[in-house]
Amino acid sequence: MRVRMLVPVGALALASACSSTQAPASAGSAAIPASGPLPLKYTGPATSAAISAQDLMTRLYVYADDSLQGREAGTIGHMKATAYIADQVRRLGLVPAGDNGTYFQNVPFISRRFDPTTTLTVDGATLAAFTDFVASPFRGALPRSIEGVQAVYGGELGDTAHQLTAEQATGKLVVLSAGEGRRFPRFGANSPLSGAAAIAIIAGPQLTPQELASGRTASLTLRPEAGAPAVPVTLSITESAAARLLGASPNGMAVGTTGRTVQGSLRYVTTDAPTRNVVAILPGSDPRLKGEYVAIGAHSDHIGIRAAGPVDHDSLHLYNQQRYFATENPTGARLTPEQVEQQRARLAAIRVNLDSVRALRAPRPDSINNGADDDGSGTVTVLEVAEAFAKGAVKPKRSILFVWHTGEEKGLLGSRYFTDNPTVPRDSIVAQINIDMVGRGAATDLRAGSERYLQIVGSRRLSTELGDLAEAVNRTEAMPFAFDYTYDANGHPENIYCRSDHYEYARWGIPVVFLTTGLHGDYHQVTDEPQYIDYPHMARVGKLVFDLADRVADLDHRPVVDKPKPDPRGACRQ
Ligand SMILES: [Zn+2]
Repeated sequence: MRVRMLVPVGALALASACSSTQAPASAGSAAIPASGPLPLKYTGPATSAAISAQDLMTRLYVYADDSLQGREAGTIGHMKATAYIADQVRRLGLVPAGDNGTYFQNVPFISRRFDPTTTLTVDGATLAAFTDFVASPFRGALPRSIEGVQAVYGGELGDTAHQLTAEQATGKLVVLSAGEGRRFPRFGANSPLSGAAAIAIIAGPQLTPQELASGRTASLTLRPEAGAPAVPVTLSITESAAARLLGASPNGMAVGTTGRTVQGSLRYVTTDAPTRNVVAILPGSDPRLKGEYVAIGAHSDHIGIRAAGPVDHDSLHLYNQQRYFATENPTGARLTPEQVEQQRARLAAIRVNLDSVRALRAPRPDSINNGADDDGSGTVTVLEVAEAFAKGAVKPKRSILFVWHTGEEKGLLGSRYFTDNPTVPRDSIVAQINIDMVGRGAATDLRAGSERYLQIVGSRRLSTELGDLAEAVNRTEAMPFAFDYTYDANGHPENIYCRSDHYEYARWGIPVVFLTTGLHGDYHQVTDEPQYIDYPHMARVGKLVFDLADRVADLDHRPVVDKPKPDPRGACRQ
């Protein structure tokens, strides 16, 4: 699942509790332990035709292993991850449906890194990168030029009562004091600052380690097309650099005060960083219908290595779990006094729980985001579904199209690329089932959680029939899920309908079903690991996906689209 906003700027600062002591990983064993915590490392037996918790565990401990380095699109770790998927579908005998008879559809990513030798000149004084200022990474666009641009003081970040007008900000280098909103500055298209040449946020006397780390982080993104929009770069600058730019200290300065003119430009080093979707087909058995496809997808990528360095895994996991419960409020309803008291108790429990973990083992510093749930769970579940179809005695009438998308975490870029450049006719895809984060959902993960918990999103947004089919198929399962439609509501603030790959299909009028066991405390943390996954729960999601795809593939007609189709080039609306 991608983060809520497309371009978050600045790094989330988490207290880092490092230790040089590393506990040895537990040795692998052949079967799932009957009780107690799951192992940190594990090597399972070979997989079989049935969609099983055992097979999923075997696969996920491979797919979410440290050796894949967090599977960031455009890195070698993600190339290894996609090589694993392709190797698996080759063994299953699926038909390659990527480029040139391979399982891979190459997606032209670049790596763009801020050039550390960049300097700017203001009034004859030199400002040096990584000393006086640093640029935050950004994606999907070209950086706006700041050569010859005048600085202007824009007040305090997030203080909308005292801010520049669009007219004052446009074409300027806007300098902002950090204020309260410093951790998550975002400037959307509606912001008066959206026309700025660049935005510089005053970090303090010096740049922080987080800001320096953020500046060293490469952006991995689609190569901008000719004529791509140019966006304002966000800079972190020191107080002295701000005084240079504004010609005086910003303390007490009136909003809108103009300053000096900048000479020089922000330089970036850009290299090719190819990445790839994995695409495979199980051919349908009906000669009349095999030219149509039921698509099943997950995303193969994750968010890579933690830029700000290692954190203590066990304390972070406990903290994340309690924090999630303490802040979770899916409907936005006002909390009762009892709920508030429960939240206090949960936060108080963090220390007690940590002490009991400390008694078991020393701190484990961890910096790799393994993405076991996001979306290792979806990736290996789709592999299990593919294995069940490939080894099954009876094949569905329509073909099944399996796509493991890259670059989901970069803003759904792999699924956008695939649906813009489909390797089968786009109109031949009759439905898409997407799964992203299907390995949690227990009562320990979220308040509504249970062994029957599953969120469903988008299933009736284009086709009432498809939504009804998802319900009907679920009722036939051995243990039906209690579907949670909360996150499907129009305008829901979590914006889940727009946050995973299914939307890229829906924008072309292809009916979708999105299934997830939901967000949790380990989302986008180094603690999203295979040891916390609920494998039997995930296996039941896999069985539902298989049965739903099978049902749709055997229909004597395409699922009827009875709702308006979105504009494929428009913005997604939850
Ligand atoms: Zn994600």
